[in-house]
Amino acid sequence: MFSSTTEFKNTFLKRLNMVCGKSFSESSERDHYQTLGIMIREFVSHDWIKTNERYLAAKEKQVYYLSIEYLLGKLLRQNLINLGIEETVQVGLSELGIDLSNLEELESDAGLGNGGLGRLAACFLDSLASLNLPGHGHGIRYKHGLFEQKIVDGYQVELPEQWLRSGNVWEVRKADLAVKIPFWGKVEGRTENGRLVFQHLNAETVTAVPHDMPVIGYNSETVNTLRLWNAEPSQFPIHEDILKYKRETESVSEFLYPDDTHDEGKILRLKQQYFLVSASIQSIIKTYRKQHGNLKELHQHVCIHINDTHPVLAIPELMRVLIDEEGFDWDLAWNITRQTISYTNHTTLSEALEKWPIRIFQPLLPRIYMIVEEINERFCGELWDKYTGDWDRIARLAVIADGFVKMAHLAIVGSFSVNGVAKLHTEILKTREMNQFYQLFPEKFNNKTNGIAHRRWLLKGNPDLSNLITDSIGSSWTQSPADLIQLLNYQHDSSFMEQLLKIKRDNKERLAEVIQSKNGIVVDSSAIFDVQVKRLHAYKRQLLKVLHIMYLYNRIKEDSSFSMVPRVFIFGAKASPGYYYAKKIIKLINTVADKVNNDPFIGDKMKVVFLENYRVSLAEKVFPAADLSEQISTASKEASGTGNMKFMINGALTVGTMDGANIEIHELVGDENIFTFGLSADEVLHYYQHGGYQSIEYYHHDSRIRQAVDQLVNGFFPGVYNEFEPIFDSLLEENDQYFVLKDFASYADTQKTIGETFRDQQVWQKKCLVNIAHAGYFSSDRTIKEYADNIWGIKPQ
Ligand SMILES: *Cc1c(COP(=O)(O)O)cnc(C)c1O
Repeated sequence: MFSSTTEFKNTFLKRLNMVCGKSFSESSERDHYQTLGIMIREFVSHDWIKTNERYLAAKEKQVYYLSIEYLLGKLLRQNLINLGIEETVQVGLSELGIDLSNLEELESDAGLGNGGLGRLAACFLDSLASLNLPGHGHGIRYKHGLFEQKIVDGYQVELPEQWLRSGNVWEVRKADLAVKIPFWGKVEGRTENGRLVFQHLNAETVTAVPHDMPVIGYNSETVNTLRLWNAEPSQFPIHEDILKYKRETESVSEFLYPDDTHDEGKILRLKQQYFLVSASIQSIIKTYRKQHGNLKELHQHVCIHINDTHPVLAIPELMRVLIDEEGFDWDLAWNITRQTISYTNHTTLSEALEKWPIRIFQPLLPRIYMIVEEINERFCGELWDKYTGDWDRIARLAVIADGFVKMAHLAIVGSFSVNGVAKLHTEILKTREMNQFYQLFPEKFNNKTNGIAHRRWLLKGNPDLSNLITDSIGSSWTQSPADLIQLLNYQHDSSFMEQLLKIKRDNKERLAEVIQSKNGIVVDSSAIFDVQVKRLHAYKRQLLKVLHIMYLYNRIKEDSSFSMVPRVFIFGAKASPGYYYAKKIIKLINTVADKVNNDPFIGDKMKVVFLENYRVSLAEKVFPAADLSEQISTASKEASGTGNMKFMINGALTVGTMDGANIEIHELVGDENIFTFGLSADEVLHYYQHGGYQSIEYYHHDSRIRQAVDQLVNGFFPGVYNEFEPIFDSLLEENDQYFVLKDFASYADTQKTIGETFRDQQVWQKKCLVNIAHAGYFSSDRTIKEYADNIWGIKPQ
C-alpha cells in the first residue's frame, strides 16, 4: 500500500480529513495518532480477512488461547515494525512535521493484566502470528485495566486506569456476533423422548459483545485475532430499576482484579471467569460448525488452552454444550472435552490456588455446578476403584471437597495436558505439589519453559542494539532468534565491543533523563544500574535488596576505608491495593531513597530510585538501560519469571537465586556469566517440611543484619514512627518465612563480587555479550513451537 513516503503522505492527509473532519492545519497530534491507527487497521484488514478464509478453507487444527489477562502495552510501533513500514511511515510523517514518537506517547498502554502471566499471553500472541500458526486469543475487554500507581509521600495511591478514554483504534466491535451468558436462576430437568434434558430458567443474562483486535505477524501475511469480550445489558427488564440493571451487567467487564497471587474469592470474579469462558466457547463452536458441522470430531480440529485455572470453567461449559445443546451422552462428551482442553499451571503458592465455595458457585452457575458435581462423582468413583479404602487420598484429589470447588483439580482431570513454565517448576509440580495427580496421569505432565517476544523486547525496545546485531550477524535473528548465538564470534572484536558499551551508556543516559524528569533525581550513568522491576510480593524479596542498600549506606557512613563502585538502585513495582505488607515495602523503599539521596556525604556513591507506575511501556525503557538484573525470589517460589529473560536479551547480567528460569539461564551461560547465590529450592522446601531455621540467630550473629533491621524501628528514619514494625515483625516474630536474613550474607558477598567485576568494563561487557548470544532460547517463538508441536498439534498455515 505505501510503496513510497509520498504515497503514504497523500493517503494520510486524505484519511485525516475524513477521519477527523478537519483540515491538516487545524489537526492535533491526537488526530494524527487516530488517523495513523485507522490507516494501519485498514491496511491489515485484507490480510486479516484472508487469514481467516485460509483457516476456514484449510480445515486444519486451530488453537484458542483463553486468558483472563493480556498485558499488551502499546501497539502502534510494534505493528509498524511487524508490517515492515516503520521507516516509510516515520519519514513520511516527519516530512509533514509530525514526530512518530510523539504519537506513540499518546497511545495508552493496554494494561489488561497484572504481570508475568498477562504479559506471557501477549508475547504468545505475537509468536503465534509471526510463526503463521492458527492461534487466537480470547479475553475480557476490561474498561479499566490495572490501576495507575501514584506515589504520594512515599505511599502507593491507586487511580482507575482509563485506556479507553479516547477509544481504541485497534478494535473492531462486532455486535452481530454477540452471545448471551446466563447467571443465577434455576435448572429444571425433565424427560424428553426417554432422555433427561435440562433447562436453565429465570436466568439473568449478560450480553457479551466481541471486540476484535488484529494480531499482526512479523514479516508474514498472517493476521490472527485477539477477541476481547465486553459485557453489556441484554434486554432491559420492564419493571425494574433500569440504571441498576445496566450498572450490574456492565460491571462484569468493568475492572481487572489487581492481584495475581491471591485467590480473592469474590463473586464478581467468578462471574468474569464464566463470562469469558462461555462467550469464548460459544464463539469457537459457532466457527467450528461452519467448517465441520458435527461436534464429534471437535478435538481433532480445535484445541482450547487455558492460561492458569481462571478459565477452567471451559471444561464444564464445553460439557454443557455437548450434552445439553448437542445431545451427546456423558461419555462421548467427556472424551471430546478431555481431548480438547490443555492447561498451564503458573504457581505452586498455595494461597494462589483457586478454590470457590459451593455456596457462591452453585447459585451463580447452577447448571455448570451440576456438571462439575458429576465430574467429581465419576472421578471419585475411579479413584475408589484404584485406591479402595484410602479416603484420605481420595479427599485430597477430589474436585469438590470441604465445601469448595478446587479449580486446579478440575483442570487436571478435564484436560489432556498439564504443563509447568520452567524445568524446576515442572519438577516441583511432579514430585511435590501435584505428585498424587502425577502418579495418576503421568502422561499429562510436561514442561514448557516460558519465553518473551524478542521482537518487542529487543527489536522494538532497544533499536540501537538491534541495529548493531543486524549489522554484525545479519537480520535472520528477528525470525530465528537462535541465530543470536553467532554473536559469540564478536567477543574479541574490539570495535564491536566498544559499540556494545556505547549503546548501553546511551540507553542509561536516556533512562537517567527519565529519572531526572520524573523523580527529580540526578543519577550518574557511569554507575551500576542495579534494577529490580516486577510486582511487589514478599516472595520476590524486594526487602532483601532494601536491607542490602541500608547495609551499604551504613558502611559508607561508618567506614572511611570502604570503597565501592557507584550504584543506582532502581525499583519499579505495583502492590495489590489490598496487600498491606507489600505497600509497607513500597513506603520503605521510598523512605530509604529519601534518606540516601538527600545525604550529602553519600553524593554520587549511591542513589535509590522508585519508578512510579511500572508497566510495559516503562519496562521497555528500563531493560535496555540495566547493568544488573535482580531475580532474587525465595528459591522454589518463582515459577519461571520472564523479566529475567528481558534483561538478559538486553545485555544485563543476572544476580539471582537458583529459582524458576534463572536455572536455565545459568545452564546456558555457565557459572562465569551469572551471579547466583542463596538457598536452593530443595533446601527451602526441606526447611518448610522439617523446620530448623531460626531467623533470630542471623539477627544476633550478623551485625550488618542487626543494624539494618533495628533501623526499621529505632527512629533511624525520622517522622515514620512505627511505620515499619510489620516488616520488623515479619523478619523476627514471624521467623522470616521467605528466608531474607538467611540469604543476606550470601547475597552481600555476591554483590561485592559484582562490584569488583564491574570495575573491568571489558570483562563485564564480554559477559553481557555471552548473555545476549544465548538469549535466543528464551524467545517465545521457541516456546510456542514447543506448544504447537507437543501439546496442540498445530502446523503453520
Ligand atoms: C515482564 C513483565 C512482568 C513480569 O516480570 P517478572 O520479573 O517475571 O515478575 C511484569 N510486569 C511487566 C510490565 C512486564 O513487562
